[in-house]
Parts: sequence; structure tokens; C-alpha cells
Amino acid sequence: MRLEPDRRHLTLPVIGRLRSKENTRRLQRLVAKGRARVLSMTLAEHGGRLVVSVQAIVALQPRTPSQPDGRCGIDLGIGREWAVIAHDGDTIQRVAHPAPWAATQNQRRRVARQLSRRIVGSRGHRQAKAKLAALDRRAANLRTHHTHTLTSILARRYGTIVVEDLDVAAMGRGMGRRAFRRTVYHAGIGSFRPILAYKCAQQSGRLLVADRWLASSKTHHGCGGYLPDLKLGDRTWVCPACGELVDRNANAARNLRDWTGPVGDRVVQRGGVAAPAPSVGDHGGQAHAVRGRARLQKTTPSGGGGR
Ligand SMILES: [Zn+2]
Repeated sequence: MRLEPDRRHLTLPVIGRLRSKENTRRLQRLVAKGRARVLSMTLAEHGGRLVVSVQAIVALQPRTPSQPDGRCGIDLGIGREWAVIAHDGDTIQRVAHPAPWAATQNQRRRVARQLSRRIVGSRGHRQAKAKLAALDRRAANLRTHHTHTLTSILARRYGTIVVEDLDVAAMGRGMGRRAFRRTVYHAGIGSFRPILAYKCAQQSGRLLVADRWLASSKTHHGCGGYLPDLKLGDRTWVCPACGELVDRNANAARNLRDWTGPVGDRVVQRGGVAAPAPSVGDHGGQAHAVRGRARLQKTTPSGGGGR
């Protein structure tokens, strides 16, 4: 089990040598320098492609965020805006869903309808199924890429990041409307916090998870005016205390940023606050299990142990 020095091949136990579509440089370099050790490789199929997941233990240099005392709040949404971020210095950043995301959804609907009209077991059915899997893979990749980009930028910058404690599983289960439940899953809200949690730990920042019952949307930031009967679809509301027009998501993000509640053990357990990571080796850095993925083009019967 190893990464080949040509950075294009992997050798797996039992299966043998495989050609990788993706360059394995990032991990291979660390392994060659003795800063990483490969623990396991798993071959799987995702949406019609073969994927090898490499689990490795990596000694990372201790890092600090560029603004160790800075705070930001993130309000994740399922509406038109994917995330609204209240930065330090009170700028509001609105992040839209990945651009081709909606287009992929429409395409998906069309192909799914096609699939349902094909005869099970026919060539047409097989082709439509492969097409649908490819679209799903694309939508998932777009989402993952978007999540990784945003979380990296924020974790490198801020010492403290506050997110809302969303019960994604309950949101998906309840609330009746199928379209709503679908957007909850498709927005990838569930994967955002775990990814942010490990990145904050890598950068020596901390991630705070605000209390689930914090009325971040209903309370006017800075004035304390409270609107108890805010509807799910309301994008703006008028503050009953000062009469100002309040933008729902921006207001929620500001409330999260300035949240100063207690941080309990429960939160730590659920991936909220960065737990101290154990040190490995003599590198003096922190250890994190890093999972990398290499896409495979096709298996080549080259070398001794090929398939
Ligand atoms: Zn107000």
C-alpha cells in the first residue's frame, strides 16, 4: 500500500497498481518527507467513477489565524442565499449557491423523468441511470467545493467563528413540504459545520456553536427589539421597538457574531469547539487524520501487481 513517486499511480493491497486521474502530489510529498503516514486506502464507486480514499495521519505545522481576536458569525440558509456572514468591522457578505447548481437541478429533474419512462433492464434504462448518477455527482462536487473554499477562507482569517446550532436531521424529517426538505439536504448545511470544525482546529482558531434556542432571527441586533411571530419565508421585518426595517439573514449573522453564551461540554462533543489534538512524531505539530481522494481514470495492467 503506497503512493508511487510518479504521483500518478497508487498501489493498493489485493488490487495492485492503479492509475490516478488526479495528481497525488500533495500527499505524496508529505509521505516522501516523512511528515505523513498512510493508514488505509479504500476503493469505492461514486456516481459511476472509481474513487480511492486515502486515510493518512499528517503532522501539521502549528498555525494561527490572521486575525486571532477577530470574530465572525455565519447564518446558513436554505433560501436564495446560501450563507450570510457578518465579518469583523460590520461588513456583511452574502454568498449565493454555486452558480450552476440550479441548472443542474433542472437537468436532474428532466433526466429522472426520462429514467422513469425506460424499461427496467434495457440499454436505455442503463444509460439514463448513468446520466442521472453523473448529474448527482456533479451537484455534490459543486457543493463540496463551495463548502471547502468558504470554510478555508474563514478558518484562516478568524480566531473565533460562531455558527448556529441547526438540527439538520430534524429539518429534513419534519416540516412537511418535500421541496423544503430537499433544499435542506441539497444546500449541504449538514456538512458545513464538521468541515469548519476541523479547519478551525488546524488553524488554532475556535468554532462556537450558538444555543439552539437563541432567537438570532427574531431579535434586532443592537437594539433588542423582538418579533415573536416571524414567518419562515419573511426576508425582512420591521422592528417593533425602533421601527427599523431589518434584513433577516444579515441580522441573524450579526447576532451570532456577537453571541456570548456559555460553551458547554455537549457542544464540544458534537464537533463545535476545537478539541485539543494529540501530537505525533517529533515534528512538534498537531496531528489530524486527513482524508484525501484521488479519482481514477482506469485500471492499467502495467507493472507486476496490476489487475
Ligand atoms: Zn430595533
